[in-house]
Amino acid sequence: MKLITGGTGLIGSEFSDGIKINSSDYDLRNKSEVVRMLSDHSPSAIIHTAAKVGGVWANMNYKANFFYDNIMMNSNIIHESAMKRVEKLIVFLSTCVFPNEIEYPLSEEKIHLGPPHISNDAYAYAKRMAEVQVKAYNEQYNTKYFCVIPTNVYGPHDNYDIENGHVLPSLIHKCYLAKKNNTDWEVWGDGSPLREFIFSRDVAKLCDILLQKYEGTEPVILSTSNEISIREVVEMIGKIMGFQGNIKWLADKPNGQYRKPSDNSKLLSIVGDYNFTPLEEGLGETIEHFLQNYGKVRGKI
Ligand code: NAP
Ligand code: GDP
Repeated sequence: MKLITGGTGLIGSEFSDGIKINSSDYDLRNKSEVVRMLSDHSPSAIIHTAAKVGGVWANMNYKANFFYDNIMMNSNIIHESAMKRVEKLIVFLSTCVFPNEIEYPLSEEKIHLGPPHISNDAYAYAKRMAEVQVKAYNEQYNTKYFCVIPTNVYGPHDNYDIENGHVLPSLIHKCYLAKKNNTDWEVWGDGSPLREFIFSRDVAKLCDILLQKYEGTEPVILSTSNEISIREVVEMIGKIMGFQGNIKWLADKPNGQYRKPSDNSKLLSIVGDYNFTPLEEGLGETIEHFLQNYGKVRGKI
């Protein structure tokens, strides 16, 4: 039986089967709760998506929370899974773990080759330690656990909080309000940074394929390897949402890392050809879901 931590999250909610756990079921920062969860469900596989997650602003302003919550959750899950002899475990990292100054494209063996970007270093170091811990446990306990490293993920069940959310849900929410109130659509930074966006359902499907097919223990990057600038993605959202007002670029807000292009060749060598959801199509579904569920979606309204 497969158990998914973070089952109410952007990625966790896209798994088509398995037992889905959220923070009101068990607070995974607490070791005894993790022990209780494993004893309640006796899973043979765990997909550990639960984490303290946020956009560039939240990462810069709540570094202690990002470090503590993530290191505790990951440490408890990896340790207790090994103690209970859970057969399979996939642990989620993020491309934020990679060094800020590194030769591109990012690839799996480059995680520890230099300090991460200052804007999210606490989150990145906590996540890096999950990779170290998985490796140590594989060596000592002969487990076959591994980490996955998605690039920027988006999809219907995102956190649409304007301050703390990631770029796409924040932009969708702000575009909706600007259109409704006839005000400027405020976008952070200068639009030059580049990102690789992957649809949340693709991430869940790829994880399920890896769970079946991947025999290794080294991390696997989950990405389309298609870069797009924030400016282009703003235009795409504006077009889908029919926004015709003024876009105001806020230069005093953070640009974050300039780019983090990644190499998906290892992923494709395992899963074969995969039809990634085109960004415009995934954004269309996400925006439709947001509009239909406004008031119920995650994040402050
Ligand atoms: P998300 O939407 O913010 O969901 C987080 C999930 O974790 C929620 O189900 C939440 O439960 C649960 N959670 C948080 N704190 C918990 C705790 N103390 N105990 C138990 N559960 C807790 O996250 P996501 O965007 O799906 O991210 C999933 C994974 O992918 C994370 O590991 C993240 O680092 C990684 N990732 C995400 C992105 C991205 O762009 N979103 C990119 C790369 C990597 P509640 O609903 O009860 O709060
Ligand atoms: P990152 O990929 O870890 O940096 O995380 P984000 O999802 O927060 O993406 C940040 C990029 O989007 C930066 O270049 C920001 O300047 C830009 N951006 C533009 N508008 C927004 C916004 O409203 N919210 C966020 N989080 N980022 C924005």
